[in-house]
Amino acid sequence: MKTVLITGGAGFLGSHLCDYFMNKDYNVICMDNLVTGREENISHLMKKNRFRFLNHDVSKRIDSDNLNGDIDYILHFASPASPVDFDKMPVEIAMTNSVGTLNMLDLARKKNAVMMFASTSECYGDPEVNPQPETYNGNVNTTGIRSCYDESKRFAESLIMAYHRAYGVDVRIARIFNTYGPRMRRMDGRAVPAFINQALHDEPITVFGEGKQTRSFCFVDDEIEGFYRLLMSDEKYPVNIGNPHEISILDFAKKIIDVTSSSSEIVFKPLPEHDPKVRRPDITKAKEKLDWEPKIGIDEGLKRTIEYFKGVNGIK
Ligand code: NAD
Ligand code: UDP
Repeated sequence: MKTVLITGGAGFLGSHLCDYFMNKDYNVICMDNLVTGREENISHLMKKNRFRFLNHDVSKRIDSDNLNGDIDYILHFASPASPVDFDKMPVEIAMTNSVGTLNMLDLARKKNAVMMFASTSECYGDPEVNPQPETYNGNVNTTGIRSCYDESKRFAESLIMAYHRAYGVDVRIARIFNTYGPRMRRMDGRAVPAFINQALHDEPITVFGEGKQTRSFCFVDDEIEGFYRLLMSDEKYPVNIGNPHEISILDFAKKIIDVTSSSSEIVFKPLPEHDPKVRRPDITKAKEKLDWEPKIGIDEGLKRTIEYFKGVNGIK
C-alpha cells in the first residue's frame, strides 16, 4: 500500500486530494496548521485507519519521528491562496512557499518520494500574452502586494528544479489556474464564494473595477484528476492545469445571478492593486503529455458549488 503526504490537506484543494487518494486505497497523511483550512473538510476521514492528521506548520522544521515509515508521494499544497490573505499574512505566505518547500524537498530526498508542488498561474503575473503557455516567463511585480505569493511560488519552482538537478529528486510542478467548488470557505474573499453567497442572500454582488478583467474557472473534480495524471507522469517541468474557458468578471457575476435566480444587483468596488487583467491557460501540454482536459462546464460546476453553499447556509 502506497503512502501520500498532503500538505494543506485540510484546505479546499487539499481535502479533495485526501478524498481522492483515500478512495484509491492509499495511506494518507494530512499535514496542515489550519491557518485557512478547516477540520470539518476532513472530519469524515479522521476515524479511518489509513488516514492521519498532523497539525504542523510546514515552514517549521519537520520532526521526522512523526513521519517514520515510507512516503511515496508528497503533494505540497499548503499556502493561503486568496488575495485577501496577501494583505493579512504576507510573511507566512512567503515562508510557506519558500522554507516550507525546502522542508518538503528535504523530506522527499530522505524518503525517496516524488514531490509535487501546487504552483500557480500567478507565476505569469499580469500576463502580456493570452492564453499563457508554460514557456511564457511572466510579468511579475517583485515588490507589489501580490509578490509575497507570486515570487515565493516562483522561487519554489526554482528550488524544486535545483533539487531535481543537484540531488535527482523526482519532481512535478502543477501551475494551477482559478479553481472552484465545494469546500471553499464562504468568506475567503475569492470571487466564486463571494458572488455565490451574495447571490444566495440577495445581497449586492461586489464586482471590482469595471469587471472587464477575465479569469478561467476550473471545477475542482477536473483539477484533481489533472493533478493525479501529472503525478503519475514523468514530466518534471511545469504543466498548466486549468480550464481554458475565459469569462469577464462582470459576465461571471451576471451568470451567478442567473443560475441562482437571485434578485441581487451588481455594485462596482475599487479594483485591487495589480489585479491581473487577463488569465487563461494554454493547456496544449496537459492534453499532449497527460491526455487531460476539463470535462465539467461552468454551468454544471456552478450548480454543484451552489448546492454546497446552499447546504452551508441552510438554504433549501
Ligand atoms: P486553502 O486556503 O483552502 O488551502 C490551503 C491549506 O494550506 C489550508 O488548509 C491551510 O490551513 C494550509 N496551510 C497554509 N499555510 C500552512 C503552513 N505554513 N503549514 C501547514 N499548512 C498550511 O487554499 P486552496 O485553494 O486549497 O489552495 C491550495 C494550494 O493550491 C495552495 O498552494 C495554492 O497556492 C494553490 N493554488 C490554488 C488555486 C485555486 O484556485 N484554488 C489556484 C492556484 C494555486
Ligand atoms: N473579484 C471581484 N469581486 C470580489 C472578489 C473578486 O470582482 O468580491 C475579482 C478580482 O478582482 C479578480 C477576480 O474577481 O479580478 C478573481 O478574483 P479571485 O480573488 O477569485 O482570484 P484571483 O484570480 O485574483 O487570484
